Amino acid sequence: MSQQVIVIGGGPSGLMAAIAAADAGASVLLLDKGEALGRKLAISGGGRCNVTNAKDIDELIRFIPGNGRFLYSALSSFGNRQIIDFFTALGIALKEEDHGRMFPVSDKAKTVVDALLAKVRALGVNIRTSCAVKQLLMSELPLDVNRFAGNHVHGVLTEDDETLQAKAVIIATGGCSVPHTGSTGDGYPWARAAGHTITELFPTEVPITVLDSFVRDRTLQGLSLRNIALTVWSPKAKKVKTHEGDLIFTHLGLSGPAALRCSQYVVKTLKTFACSEIKLTIDLVPPCHANEVEQTLRSTAKRESKKALKNVLKACFSEWQLPERLIPTLLGLCQIDGELTAPQISNNAWQTLTLYIKQFPLHANGTLSLSEAFITGGGVSIKEIDPRTMASQLAAGLYFCGEVMDIHGYTGGYNITAAFASGHCAGRSAAQFAISEANPL
Ligand SMILES: Cc1cc2nc3c(=O)[nH]c(=O)nc-3n(C[C@H](O)[C@H](O)[C@H](O)COP(=O)(O)OP(=O)(O)OC[C@H]3O[C@@H](n4cnc5c(N)ncnc54)[C@H](O)[C@@H]3O)c2cc1C
Repeated sequence: MSQQVIVIGGGPSGLMAAIAAADAGASVLLLDKGEALGRKLAISGGGRCNVTNAKDIDELIRFIPGNGRFLYSALSSFGNRQIIDFFTALGIALKEEDHGRMFPVSDKAKTVVDALLAKVRALGVNIRTSCAVKQLLMSELPLDVNRFAGNHVHGVLTEDDETLQAKAVIIATGGCSVPHTGSTGDGYPWARAAGHTITELFPTEVPITVLDSFVRDRTLQGLSLRNIALTVWSPKAKKVKTHEGDLIFTHLGLSGPAALRCSQYVVKTLKTFACSEIKLTIDLVPPCHANEVEQTLRSTAKRESKKALKNVLKACFSEWQLPERLIPTLLGLCQIDGELTAPQISNNAWQTLTLYIKQFPLHANGTLSLSEAFITGGGVSIKEIDPRTMASQLAAGLYFCGEVMDIHGYTGGYNITAAFASGHCAGRSAAQFAISEANPL
């Protein structure tokens, strides 16, 4: 059986690649080892599918800290505007929520997956589920047509030892996070066999683990903090990264948007400095300068001079919209007795309290594992992929898209946007390559 383009993987990147290739006139075979397509997409965005983000292209790229610039060309031709138009044309209305996040109005990821599947089918793409690919079929090109150091990909071999021929093959197998969705890192050894470099894989957008006893003993488990600023520090006491947002204490550490965004910097800092723990701090009231915080503490205490410090703090926390539940831990860290009244509190104690409110300290020793992460960092090196076409620069007829590449964004619709943009680019280019009369293969 032969077709012009084979797409391996039916996640958002592979589905979009199949659509773009079929739209460009190629005969397309889409293979997925799972029983259903789009399994990760179906659980993304809390089951609502954060399809894209409304930000400008430069901002989108800024929120894809793992090689976002590589996607400039792909996003310019198929970016968030085109993604919104694409779904609107399929009858899927999208709505914008906080931070530019776009969701289907139905609030159901299934709507998005079903619309993609309907489009794939309408374009006549041949779909085979429960079909796991084992390896790429590769051979050497004759020297006179060889600008690819000898390799050309001409199909795939399935786990059932079936040979499927194609002029072009697109690897859209995703990373290796949340493997029950089918993303088990299968694409990396195939890329390596084709001569590609795989940069080191690491978990990103993943909960951070901390060592502090008040976390490990579950005192703070389930506690949410709104609009705080989390900072990752190097062992040389330099700020590595700060992210503002919400945060939640878990039984092992920190989760929530601010923690997820900082997680990759925890991983990298621990590795760079070869240390077993690093410091994190939470600014509990980012809009207020330390002087302002101290002033609020002192003036509230003055007003309520007969009240115990713990109750003064309750009033301040209410003003700052912080949970009272944090107060005993804060006082414990500062080693200040919450039963003292204002006149009994030293200048030093007010300054210590202020410092801990602006830099509530924690000690991180890592993150949850790669398989538990939302996103896989690292992957097929972008240095060996043409950003205008997503074509391999080492093997003719080979293309990449989505999370299998060394590209990762923050949560908020950026990864799915990267998958759609790169998938569209790879599909269109692979079709042109496969159909092209100049194609010597
Ligand atoms: C819980 C969760 C929530 C998320 N929420 C968001 C969010 O809100 N916003 C956002 O931008 N991103 C989010 N992401 C990330 C986003 O879902 C991924 O970045 C995106 O799905 C990657 O798309 P992909 O097409 O590259 O790969 P995947 O979606 O991983 O798809 C890969 C496909 O390849 C198939 N495959 C793998 N190996 C083989 C093989 N050997 N043969 C055949 N088929 C194979 C798999 O079965 C799978 O269907 C979330 C991720 C998770 C886990």
